[in-house]
Order: sequence, then C-alpha cells, then structure tokens
Amino acid sequence: MAKNYDYLIVGAGLFGAVFAHEAALRGKKVKVIEKRNHIAGNIYTKEVDGIQVHQYGAHIFHTSDKDIWNYVNQFAEFNRYTNSPVANYKGHMYNLPFNMNTFSELWGVRTPDEARAKIQEQKDAVKLSGEPKNLEEQAISLIGTDVYEKLIKGYTEKQWGQEATDLPAFIIRRLPVRYTFDNNYFNDTYQGIPIGGYTQIVEKMLDHPEIDVETGVDFFAHKDQYLKDYPKVIFTGMIDQYFDYQLGELEYRSLRFETEELDVDNYQGNAVINYTDAETPFTRIIEHKHFEFGKGDKGKSVITREYPADWKRGDEPYYPVNNSRNNSLYKQYAALAKQEGNVIFGGRLGQYRYYDMHQVIHAALVLVNSEI
Ligand SMILES: Cc1cc2nc3c(=O)[nH]c(=O)nc-3n(C[C@H](O)[C@H](O)[C@H](O)COP(=O)(O)OP(=O)(O)OC[C@H]3O[C@@H](n4cnc5c(N)ncnc54)[C@H](O)[C@@H]3O)c2cc1C
Repeated sequence: MAKNYDYLIVGAGLFGAVFAHEAALRGKKVKVIEKRNHIAGNIYTKEVDGIQVHQYGAHIFHTSDKDIWNYVNQFAEFNRYTNSPVANYKGHMYNLPFNMNTFSELWGVRTPDEARAKIQEQKDAVKLSGEPKNLEEQAISLIGTDVYEKLIKGYTEKQWGQEATDLPAFIIRRLPVRYTFDNNYFNDTYQGIPIGGYTQIVEKMLDHPEIDVETGVDFFAHKDQYLKDYPKVIFTGMIDQYFDYQLGELEYRSLRFETEELDVDNYQGNAVINYTDAETPFTRIIEHKHFEFGKGDKGKSVITREYPADWKRGDEPYYPVNNSRNNSLYKQYAALAKQEGNVIFGGRLGQYRYYDMHQVIHAALVLVNSEI
C-alpha cells in the first residue's frame, strides 16, 4: 500500500503539515503519521467551555514577513490580540516587556530620561569589569539590578533549573527594553491569534485527497519497514532518537501543564501572567479566554499553570538546550543525517532548534521548494 506514496511525513505538527499541504498541491501523494492521538503538534488547541485551550503552552503568532502572514491567513482568520504579559513579583504587578510602564511602577519615574538615569545608576553601582561571565552579569549590564532581581532572576532560574550565575550569558544577548509606554511584547508588524484556535489551521492543511493521516502511530514501532516502504521520509521527531541516541542524548527542557476549569468569568484579567519570584513553583498562568477577548461560556474560565521540568527519555521535549555541548553533538547527528539518503530532518526536534511558528512555516516552505 505504501508503494503509491511519494512521502511519509513523521509528525503532524506545523512543519509536517505545511510540507504535506504543499507537496499535495504539487501532485504528490503523502502519508502523515503522528504518535499523539491528535494532529497539530504543539500548536494544538481544544475547545473547553467554549474556550480555545492552548494545550501545550500559550501560542501567539507573530511575524514581520508579509508572505508568511498571508500564507497562514489562508487557513484561519486572526484576531487583533497583542501579547502584553504582566509580571507578578511577590504580589506586585509590573507590565512587560520592560518599558516605561514597568519603570514607572518600579521607581515612580515619569520620563525616559529619568528611567535611563535610574538604570545607569544601578549599572554603575555594580561595577562589572570585562565581558559578562554569566547570565546574571549579562542581565545586570543590560538593565540594572532592580529589573534583574524582580523580573528576570527567579523566572529564568525556574525556566532553566539552574542558578543565573551558572547559566551562560548568551541566553540573553538582548533584552526588549523600551523607553515608551508600550506593553506590546513583540516588535513584529503582524500578530494575532486564530479565531477558533490553531488546530483548524493544521486540519485545513491536511484536508486534501492526496494526504492520508494516521494518529496514534509511532514511527519507531516500525522504523525499518517505513524506511523500506516509502521513497522519501520527512522526519520531524527527535533526531537523536532517530539514531537510537548512538552518540549520546541531546538535552531538552520539559514542561508540566496543570489545567483547571473555574466557575468564574475572569480570573486574572490577562491571558498571560508571569510569576517572577523564585518561590512560586510555576513560571506563569495562562487564562485562555483572554486570547479571544473573553469568548467562551458565561461564568466559566480555564487556566493553566506552567511548571518547567527537567527532561528525561519519555518526557515531552519542549525546548532544546542550545549550549555548546548540545550544539556540537547536534552537528554530529546532522552529519549522520546527511548520510541517510531518503530521510530529511525538519522542524524543531528534527533540527534541534527553537523555532517560532512563522519560522517553522518558512523552513517547511523552503524545503518544499528545494525538494519538489
Ligand atoms: C511552550 C511553548 C510555547 C510556544 N509559544 C510560541 C509562540 O507564542 N509563538 C510562536 O510562534 N511559537 C511558539 N512556540 C513554538 C511552536 O510550538 C513551534 O514553532 C511549532 O509547534 C513547531 O512545529 P514542529 O512541527 O516543528 O514541531 P511539533 O509541533 O512538536 O510537531 C512534531 C510532531 O511530531 C510528532 N512526533 C515526534 N516523534 C514522533 C514519532 N516517533 N512518530 C510519530 N510522530 C512523532 C510529535 O508528537 C509532534 O506532534 C512555542 C513552543 C512551546 C514549547
């Protein structure tokens, strides 16, 4: 049966779906297998109480690439959601990203000059010499001690499971700092949330007579058979797992999501609230209905607490840990991948890099154009 297919795509996430869609439009016959019991990978959303719940963490689409924006808008209508998270540090609320609202809340300053002077004064007081040696020094050299201690330190340490003084400086090369009263997190030209959720995007991409989709199927259960049966494989799972971890494990960070349905209309007044102290065990609470401006059943809300976690085999690998050890190990796997004639590795796990959605769409389109 597999003989008629041109491609086997492993993973029904955004990368696999864009590739499948474009290949089908170019007349190719495609089979998609997905080990979860649903399509859409990490952008999967599910309706609960009339609310689109982002099952694998908050997803906000943003891009400055007009072509990518037009591309994704074929599959859903986007609303005008603007990402403006708020930080809760020990009960005090601060606007993010770091901007005049934050500085005014922290110090009572009213003008950009007053804010700059305050930050400069804090940077000078620490007297760092030479290149920043770790994340703590890097952050302080960029933004001073108050913002670092209240809004960066605890959050980042929870995220990475390490002290900021043990984390490399490169993790925060730049910080979004704005000397205007502007709480818009992204600088991109376009952003929004698909009205009705993300799953429909992948559904529409895969809805084509030349595409067959099977969920609940793990590639590794029949790896050799798949490789024999299909002329070409697009693999969007973990590259180290594909090679049976023969050179060692790449490291990932995982997450645990704790979702609760509440009998309230409005729990926290914002889609995303970050808990930036070290003591609160979760990093943020998402209140999903605010992504669609309160859409959902009356008197109901759904919230998700996000707990960062270490990763071990069998856990969901959410974030690659792109330090020098892992990057060089990845390069060795990528060299093995090159010898794997009929298999192409794509997406965030296949290429072991953090991809935003617009980047994953771009990467899949580039691959389709070079492949077909
Ligand atoms: C917590 C979090 C928040 C994010 N927020 C944003 C955001 O706000 N904005 C943004 O632009 N991007 C965001 N992203 C990034 C976004 O999720 C990715 O860009 C996108 O999902 C990557 O698509 P993908 O197809 O590469 O990977 P995935 O979505 O992971 O798809 C890969 C699929 O392959 C399947 N698979 C793996 N191994 C096998 C196997 N052996 N057999 C069969 N199937 C397999 C997996 O189950 C998965 O469904 C976020 C990511 C995370 C983790």
